This record gives sequence, C-alpha cells and structure tokens, in this order.
Amino acid sequence: MRCSVSTNIPAHGNNPSTDKLGTTPGSFANPPRIGTPYTFSSPDTPGMPGPSDRTAWDFLPEGWERGEEFAVAPDRFKAVTQFEYARLGMITPEMERAAERETHLSPQQVRDEIAAGRMLITANKVHLSYNLDPMCIGRAATTKINANLGASPLSSNTDREVEKLEWAVRWGADTAMDLSTGGNLDECREAIIRTATVPIGTVPIYSMIIGRSVEELTYDDILTEIVKQAGQGVDFFTIHAGLLKEHLPYLKDRLIGIVSRGGSLLARWMLAHNKQNPMYEVFDEICDIMREYDVGFSLGDGLRPGGLSDATDEAQLREVETLGELTERAWARGCQVMIEGPGHVPFDQIEFNMKYARRICHGAPFYVLGPLVTDIFPGYDHITSCIGATAAAYHGAAMLCYVTPKEHLSLPKKDDVKQGCIAYKIAAHAADVALGIPGTRDRDDALTRARAALDWSEHVKLSFDPETAREFHDEDHDVDEDFCSMCGHDWCAVRINRDLELFGAGEAKEIGEIAELAEKTLLAVSADDDGKATCHSDMVDEREAQKIQAGSPGGS
Ligand code: SF4
Repeated sequence: MRCSVSTNIPAHGNNPSTDKLGTTPGSFANPPRIGTPYTFSSPDTPGMPGPSDRTAWDFLPEGWERGEEFAVAPDRFKAVTQFEYARLGMITPEMERAAERETHLSPQQVRDEIAAGRMLITANKVHLSYNLDPMCIGRAATTKINANLGASPLSSNTDREVEKLEWAVRWGADTAMDLSTGGNLDECREAIIRTATVPIGTVPIYSMIIGRSVEELTYDDILTEIVKQAGQGVDFFTIHAGLLKEHLPYLKDRLIGIVSRGGSLLARWMLAHNKQNPMYEVFDEICDIMREYDVGFSLGDGLRPGGLSDATDEAQLREVETLGELTERAWARGCQVMIEGPGHVPFDQIEFNMKYARRICHGAPFYVLGPLVTDIFPGYDHITSCIGATAAAYHGAAMLCYVTPKEHLSLPKKDDVKQGCIAYKIAAHAADVALGIPGTRDRDDALTRARAALDWSEHVKLSFDPETAREFHDEDHDVDEDFCSMCGHDWCAVRINRDLELFGAGEAKEIGEIAELAEKTLLAVSADDDGKATCHSDMVDEREAQKIQAGSPGGS
C-alpha cells in the first residue's frame, strides 16, 4: 500500500556536479552564476543577509577610472599584482595556470573574478621564482584547504616542519601556513618557502615579538618584519588589523575571551599603550609593502569565538565590520584580500556567519578555521570541525583551515597532519559536490561503478587514501572476492544485485541459474586456517558459517 502523503522533489538549481547519467536529481543549490556574487551558492534561508551590492570595482585606486569593460589606470602606471592586471583586463600566466587547475573555469573567468575581488591568486613574486604552482581561492573555484605547520618553543625543528609540509601536500593541502613560534623562525620559513609548491602564509606578528615583549613593539618593528617576510617570498599574511580598541569592552561577558594568538598580543599592546591597534594605524603602509611583492591579505579575526558560548557575539560581528572597511582600503591600494573567519560556531549559526561576511566584505573570499560545532570532543576536533567546515563551504567559504586531532591539546605530528588534511578534503569535496561544481562528482560515480562491479582493485585505486582502503580490506581477505567480510558471501547485497542484473540482462535464463553463477565464483575462493574468507556458507558447514559471519565487522 502506498503512503498517503506525497511531496515533490525541489526543482531548485538542477546543476549536477557531473554530466554523467545517474538517478539522483541535480544539486539543490542555486544554479551557478559565475560573474555575480552568487557564483556557486546555497539558497538563502529566510532572514539571511543578501550579498553586498558593491564589489572591488567600487574601490578603485585614486586616479583610476572604470572603462567600458575594464579599468583605466593613470598614464605610466605599471601593474604589479594579479589584481591590477585583472582590473586592466590582462590575463597573466598565473591566471592561465589557475584556470587549468579548475577545469570548469576559463582564464577569462578567473581574471574577472579576481577583478571583482571575489577571487585571489596568492603568489608572491619571489616564491614564483622558486617552485610555486599558482592556484586560486574563491567561491567560483573548488573549495581549498589549508594546513597549519610550524615549530613551537617546546617541539619540532626546521627539518621536521619541511617534512610535515611535504606530507600535508601529499594529503591534499592547497596552501600551508608556517605558524612557528619557536626554533629559528627565519630559517624555518625560508626552508618551507623554497620547498613549497603551494602558497605559504604566515602571521608576521609572531616573529615581531621574538626577543622583545609585545609592549615594546613599535610601528617600525612591524613594517621591518613585514618587508623581511615579503622579501622571503611569503604568499599571504594574516594581519589582525580589524580588532580595534573600541571592541575590547565587548569581551567582558565572554566565557573564553580572545583565543587568537595575534589578537591577544595586539589587545595587550593596546591596553599597555592606551592606543589604537598598531596594525590598523599602519595599515596603508602594510598595503604598499604587500603590493610590491604581491602578497595577499588574510585579514585576521582576532576576536573569533573560542567556544560555542561566544559565537556570533557583538565582539565578533563588530570586528567583521572593520574587516569590511580594511578590505575596501586594501583593494583601493591594489592588494588582493581574503577574510578569516571563526572558529567555534553552533551548526545553526554557520550560514549566517558566512553570509554576513559575504555582505560586509563585498564577496571577498572567506577563509575559515573549522568551525567546530561542539566543544566536548578534544582529541576528535578534526571531526567536530570538519562537520562545520562542510556547512561553511556550502554556505560560502572558499578555503577551509584544517584542524587536527591535536587541536587544543598539543603540537600536531605527522600523522595528525594527515588526519586533518583528510577530514578537510572530505569537507571541501562534499561541499563542492553539493554546490554542483561541474565534474566534482565524477570520481564518486566511478568509484560507485567499481563498487557495484565488486572490482576491488579499481575501488581501492579510486579511493582518496588507497593504502588505508587496501589495508582495511585485506585484514580479512588474502584475495579479492565477490564480497567482503562486512556482510559475508550470502548477505552481500551488491553480489546478489549483480546476479539479479545478469538475470535481468538475460545472461541467466532461470532465477535458479543465479545460484550456479555464484557457485562458479565460489570455486575460485579458498578458505584458509585463520578464518579469512571462510564466512562463505557454501564452503563450510552452515552453522559454522553463521558463527563466523556473526563475528565479522558487519555481522549481527
Ligand atoms: S559484503 Fe556487504 S559491505 Fe562487502 S561488498 Fe558486499 S554488500 Fe558491500
């Protein structure tokens, strides 16, 4: 009997992430509108902030004019940054390469998204002269992930951090940040940049206070360190210029105050001097240095919430407003910008956080840490945060900063880096498929086909982590068979389904032949002494088989 209630599948979007046939409807996300603030986007839940009606085109440098299609710069102006080339309508080799890596985007689309401020290519000219392979960050592109590296005063050294960088890239990191606060910071940064094929980011204030207290920091110290790191080839800087003196009173009711290292140091400086944030005061000078090398801004969220209790509060939202102002100022000085976001956010508030930043910062790419959607799983925060990261990317974040299992507990080691990268590749890929980015589901479908055909070698080959997939499969099998130890032979739905298909295709004339077809396979299967493959009830006594199957991982 049919259920008495029915409903229609939403006809929204209809932009599947693959052009291959399947039985699923297209994505329920908005249809792609590259060239507009919507690019790839989730439908706005009622009450969510809509996009800004302004873009980087509204914040041209002094003396520039908006031409018919592109901008017109004053005579004798020489473009330096990717942003300036894009505004002038030029396509650089870096834009060509970024588009090549985003198979659904053309170099023209990459240029136009950069010119609108919705995308950036973080490629310092010095790093480009080494091994950097240019890539782009923006919601029109696939979601990127960042891995944090760096020695602490208590653990690690340059060699180990370079090894971690290579390991992070092996497991899919699109960018890496050197957050060293211990050891030889200059040497470690230099080694990482010279090795890295991915863009490298830093938080320059960490180096500014080596050998001095934060209260001793001068404007000159700030600019000197920024010149040094830009000259070394850093591709993006986290600059915590959005945390203002006026924001500090908002912190009094928070459970955990300021959790950003850079934010807490600058707050201490402001209290000691009773002055405005020095990064805010010298922001224009910082822009000029960054423009010279084409270092991208990652405008830091010094007031990001450090627990669910402090999410989406006054302190956080007021800082985002200042980040919007700084975005306009950086764009007007020819610099590329992305915005950093929280942190710890209850799941239901993630969409608002993403869309608030989209509006206030005029669509500049949003780069978020997690967010963690619960606080009570230390040791598993790569999982609590990758749940939030998936929602964040679906609702607008362009890059996700990974969290490892060691978050809040200790410095991540090599295996933690792998676990963090994999958790975040899952989040990024899930969001890309849901947003309907063309081609992103192709590999999922190919793996589904291999799974349906019980083709274990293809199944393993298409897995993101083939070594682990193979190791897990082989725990209970010496050879590839037409079932696995999860259910065992007689309960293998995929095998039964395949046999039904053979029957449907006329290859088996009688339903009884299915059993015979199955038997042919069984002859090739040999049971061994340690129980591997012996859950095959046609090969052992039925009661014995049931006992083995009941003990298998999927048995009951
Ligand atoms: S035994 Fe179960 S888990 Fe394994 S392939 Fe068959 S249906 Fe899938």
